[in-house]
Formats: sequence, structure tokens, C-alpha cells
Amino acid sequence: MGGRDVKIPFLRPSPPRLSGLASELQAIEQSRIFTNYGPTNARFERALEEQLLNDAGGCVTVCNATIGLMMAMRAVIERRSGTRWPPSHRRRYALMPSFTFAAAAQAADWIGLTPLFCDVDPDDWSSSAEAEERLIACHGDDIAVIVPYATFGNCVDLERYAQLSERTGIPVVIDAAASLGSLDDQGRGFGAGFAFPVVFSMHATKMFATAEGGVIHCGDRDLIEMLRTMGNFGFGLPRSATMPGLNSKLSEIGALLALGRLGEFEAIVRHRDMLADRYRQLLPDHVFQRMRGRRCACQFMPILPPANFEDRRDEIIAALGADGIGAAAYFSPHVAEQPFFRSRSISDDLSVTAHLSHSILALPLWDEMTARTVEAVCEALRAVYGHLRRGALRHLPLPDLAAHVAAQPIGAMSVCMAEVRPS
Ligand SMILES: *Cc1c(COP(=O)(O)O)cnc(C)c1O
Repeated sequence: MGGRDVKIPFLRPSPPRLSGLASELQAIEQSRIFTNYGPTNARFERALEEQLLNDAGGCVTVCNATIGLMMAMRAVIERRSGTRWPPSHRRRYALMPSFTFAAAAQAADWIGLTPLFCDVDPDDWSSSAEAEERLIACHGDDIAVIVPYATFGNCVDLERYAQLSERTGIPVVIDAAASLGSLDDQGRGFGAGFAFPVVFSMHATKMFATAEGGVIHCGDRDLIEMLRTMGNFGFGLPRSATMPGLNSKLSEIGALLALGRLGEFEAIVRHRDMLADRYRQLLPDHVFQRMRGRRCACQFMPILPPANFEDRRDEIIAALGADGIGAAAYFSPHVAEQPFFRSRSISDDLSVTAHLSHSILALPLWDEMTARTVEAVCEALRAVYGHLRRGALRHLPLPDLAAHVAAQPIGAMSVCMAEVRPS
């Protein structure tokens, strides 16, 4: 931003170096097996289950988490309602938060579902339990699937979702895109053994960085085998489709990158944990996400600025950018605000989401950062506040950022409020 050199980028993806894996690459070339759940992929799936998922079920790799979410939603719905698709001609909702990345809503749309957006908890920034209960009471059978997001890699209470599903019969798919490596209260890998699919991303920008890739874990091994078949054209019999299918396979080279990342992972998680703690120490007057579980696989460092700067997030980002420091507004705009979804979704009251989305600021966090880099970011942030306070900010917000600040009305909101209101 501002044409200056970026000294501290927001993200700095560091997947394992393929150039350092020459002998493993040669082995793949010699084997002539490049994909189709080959031996490298099998080794990765096994090692991942052992190292990060407590051997509590099964997993299957996918080409990315978005396709994984699409398949997982369809698989759990299909399972519940037998073989007919769509299960009814009524409107079918996917209940999910709007304070997230667009992937889950896009995945729902691709399988003919309508996103039903709920608000988030003001402290942990994941779907509000109260909002979910109310929407389920209201829309009941029209909700085909519940898709909570484990926000920014934080854990969500999976026991509550198991009970909710037991009580209502509605299946669940967890968007755990950023959670690979997070640990729950008992120190188990987040999602380990959960009865419904938990979908992780291995995109270059996630903490478990490869290039493109994802993995679905589930305590139910039969469901994983169903997803494996779905991901290979639905071929339950040789070259013969027995279920809906597409091609979601991860290549052997993708699996090699993932194996490489797994090997170095523990040391990286610990280092990034230390960096996140340093941010917390240095910014005590900021609001941080309430953490659940023992460890969070932080992708970046989301914070809320002190109250007097809450409305000036975009100015802060522009000023940091002019100082060569990358920062970002995740998630802004939130999903329900995005033009495509305004007319293709239903929203409940989203006031917490709107507030978060308006103020949230994501600061840099990457593998090679040091505590000293974190200190430099925090010093620069303090300097920006100083300028803002004195009204002497050198760098005015860029016009496109300023346009962001003007909160857009959410088209779907009124429709929803009418629907949600008990008649
Ligand atoms: C990154 C991300 C995804 C998508 O993951 P891909 O592997 O890039 O498809 C989905 N949901 C959330 C919340 C994400 O952050």
C-alpha cells in the first residue's frame, strides 16, 4: 500500500520446500503413481490420524476444503434422508454464521441449499448457541444441515453440536478450515472422533500450509469411505457410479507437501503460539478472541482496537500499510453483505457480526516472525493511534477502503426478520 516496500507482510506462506524433497519426488516419478489415493496420500492420512487426530476415526484428503465442505454437506444430508436428492422441494437451509469466509456459503449454494446466517457470540466469535436454537425452533425441518465455523482456528463445543443433532435430527458439518493442529480442552486434536465430518484446509495461507489441499476427518469411518468414493466420481464399483460423485482427489505431490508440513508442524505451532502470546502481552487494552481448548492453530492475529479507535479500522490498516506493515480486515465484508449472497441467503439479526466485521483488525503472524517482529508491529500500531488521536494522520484512508466503512444494509435481513418472527 502507498507504493512503499512491505517490510512486515500480513501473511508469508511457507509450505515445505519441494526443492528439498527431491528424492521423494523422484520416488513418485519412478512409481508412476501420481494420484488416485496413492501410497504417499495413504501415508499422509495415516500419519495425520496418529499425530493430530488421536487415531479416533478416519480421514480422507481433498483437493481443497471448499470442495470438501460441499461433499460433506451432501453426504450427511443424503445419509439422513436416504437416496432421494433433493430430499424435498421445500426451501432447504444450511445454518451457518455470516462472520466467516465465503467458502461454506458457496459450497451450500453449489448443492442447492440456501445459507441461513446466524449471529456469533461476542466473546468467542463462533455461532451463537442462542441464535442457532431460535432459528432451529423457527425453521425446524427446513434446515438441512448445520455448518458451524471454528472461528480463526479456535475450538467450538462439539459436544453441544452432537447433542443438538441428536435432539433435532439435523446433521452437522464443521468448517474447521483453520483448525488443523488446534487442541481441545482435553488436549485432543480438535474434531478427533466427532460423529460428523470436520473439514480442514491445507491452503498455503493456513497454518498447516501446503499449496492447495484439505482433509476431512470423522469418527465414523464408513462416512469417510463414502466421501472417498464420492471424491472419485462416485465409483462404488469399478468404473461404475453408485452415488453422486465428483473429482476431489489430492495429487501425490500435494500429499508429499502435506507429509512434509506434518513433519515440521509441532515446532511451528509452538513458535506461533509464543508469537500470539507476545501480542496479548503487548496489547492489553485490545479485545482478543476468547480462546477455547488448549491450543489454537492461529492463522493470523485478529484483535479489536480500543473502543475510541473501533470506527477507524480502515484508517489504521492504511496507515500501517504506509509504514510497510501488512494488516487486513477479516472478515469484512461478512458473507451476508457480499453482493452475491444478498439475494441468495436469509439472515437473522446479525448485530454482533456487523460490529465485529466493522472493527476487527488482523495483524501479521507467520512462521519466520520473531518476538521482535511482533514488538515492531505493536510499536507501529501505537504510533498510528497517536497520530489518530492528534488528528494528524499522514495517510488518509484509500477511497475504496473508505467505501467499506459505510455499512451497507443487508438485503436479506428484513425478509428473515419477518420469517423469524413467530406468527
Ligand atoms: C480458507 C477457508 C476455507 C477454504 O479453504 P480452501 O482449502 O482454500 O478451499 C473455508 N472456510 C474458511 C473459514 C476458511 O478460512
